[in-house]
Amino acid sequence: MLIDLSSLKEVGSRKSIDRKIELPDLSYREQEIGIPFPLDLKLDMYNTEDSYTLTGSLAGNLVLTCSRCLERFEYKIDIKINEELMKDEINNISEFDISSILIEHILLIIPIKPICSQDCKGLCVQCGQNLNEGECDCEKDIIDPRMAKLKKLFDDKDNEEV
Ligand SMILES: [Zn+2]
Ligand SMILES: [Zn+2]
Repeated sequence: MLIDLSSLKEVGSRKSIDRKIELPDLSYREQEIGIPFPLDLKLDMYNTEDSYTLTGSLAGNLVLTCSRCLERFEYKIDIKINEELMKDEINNISEFDISSILIEHILLIIPIKPICSQDCKGLCVQCGQNLNEGECDCEKDIIDPRMAKLKKLFDDKDNEEV
């Protein structure tokens, strides 16, 4: 997405933008990050002596894959943007492409293991059934972590007696 900084001619001048922007889907750390809906970009741009500062927010919904149940789900974002663009590093101030800055901000907040909800039950390790949609018929051999501790205590005791 291109923004025009040339209208900020004078040092000290400001400009705000508030618009819907579209970004391509991203691939990051083996995750497919879908951006099917336009995102809301709000930016205040300010001309300082040597730079332009951009402050604002990028908000909307991404689509991620749940690391437990592998379903795609909508992931809400509301990212604060705080960037300083040095004037001598900008080639074309009337068409400055801000996309890479926005993408960087998005990638920073993507969880390593996204989950669709805190209580997502995930998939059955035996048959692959999505347990959010219903129980499967597999034998369950789930040991409560506290029980496991107790069991270990008993086992250790047995060993001592041998
Ligand atoms: Zn899930
Ligand atoms: Zn199962």
